[in-house]
Amino acid sequence: MGIYLDHAATTNIDKQVLAAMQPFFDAHFGNASSQHGFGRIAQKALMTAREQTAALIGADCDDVYFTSGGTESDNWAIKGIAETAGKGHIITTQVEHHAVLETCAYLQKRGFRVTYLPVNEAGFVEPCAVEKAIEKDTFLISVMFANNETGVMMPIEQICSIARAHDILMHTDAVQAVGHVPVDVKKMDIDLLSLSAHKFYGPKGIGALFIRRGLEIGRFIHGGSQQRGLRAGTDNIAGAVGLGAAALLAAENMAKFAAHESALAKRLADGLLKIEETRFNGGEAERLPGHVNLSFGGIEAAALLVRLDLEGIAVSAGSACASGSGKPSYVLAAMGRTPEEARGTVRFTVGRTNTQKQIDTVITHTKESVEKLRAHSPLFAQQKGGKSYI
Ligand SMILES: *Cc1c(COP(=O)(O)O)cnc(C)c1O
Repeated sequence: MGIYLDHAATTNIDKQVLAAMQPFFDAHFGNASSQHGFGRIAQKALMTAREQTAALIGADCDDVYFTSGGTESDNWAIKGIAETAGKGHIITTQVEHHAVLETCAYLQKRGFRVTYLPVNEAGFVEPCAVEKAIEKDTFLISVMFANNETGVMMPIEQICSIARAHDILMHTDAVQAVGHVPVDVKKMDIDLLSLSAHKFYGPKGIGALFIRRGLEIGRFIHGGSQQRGLRAGTDNIAGAVGLGAAALLAAENMAKFAAHESALAKRLADGLLKIEETRFNGGEAERLPGHVNLSFGGIEAAALLVRLDLEGIAVSAGSACASGSGKPSYVLAAMGRTPEEARGTVRFTVGRTNTQKQIDTVITHTKESVEKLRAHSPLFAQQKGGKSYI
């Protein structure tokens, strides 16, 4: 097997999580809405999963709704609150995940107004910028807990207190953060929070939306009475059990896993920053433990990715050019990086199961590849000569 350093994209399912799910695919196949023994087993498993998920984010279990993942949770939170508001203004940032950006763009077409705040050079949105953007009819602020490209954490607690002071609801896309760093919806005074199991060693296709008690939100999926009729459809028991098991595992081992990941991330960053003309994006900010986002001057990240892939090393381009659009990352652009810098950017995301030996292998291969690519790069030669390489 190769070396996987793309844990921000998805994680492998933990063996304990898989084992917990297994019986709900065969022996315990019941429908949680059924009024018999099979149904009761499913119902009980669903309740336990809800409690485990709620515990990870400091919520009451009644306020946690299962969804199909982070994307659905973001859609529901933002569209559901917009539906209740009817019209008005939303504040978000330029560096949100597409699940938030595209939902906001959709609402703009429906007559809502949206402000997309920039971030500073370190990668986070300034609380005072949020406060300044508030208008008379602002009804929702949606700011991510931590960015998926850089791992930079946003000042969520401060933004929440600004939102509360102005009587505005606060949603946070915490998909990258939950299961990795402490998140407490009560202590932080969060109204709505999105999370997804597959970003912390649970299965894909299951997530949750925390909705503060008493908050009025539009129904998302119309149908039966599951989840108070707000999000109908036969409950995904195996998925929920997987999410619950992953939540429990994360809660019990958070400090241990974070220490392991941040030590390896530091080793990786220290090793790669020895390469000249290398910049650590978000390096000065408070970050998630496993993220290392580096810009290597004078190279194309896509070419580096191919070379590393040939060695069995899986990383990601910092730029969201997965679709082949070749557009430089909007996250790095918002941080003030040039398109050239953005194009030379690679995201390494360390996980629980990575080893020091793997990190050292990655450092060796990355150094070698960057040198080879630069040797063939007229851009880099020009840049070294002090000229612009555009
Ligand atoms: C992965 C991710 C999502 C989408 O979650 P899915 O469960 O894959 O739909 C949303 N927001 C952020 C920040 C993410 O990292």
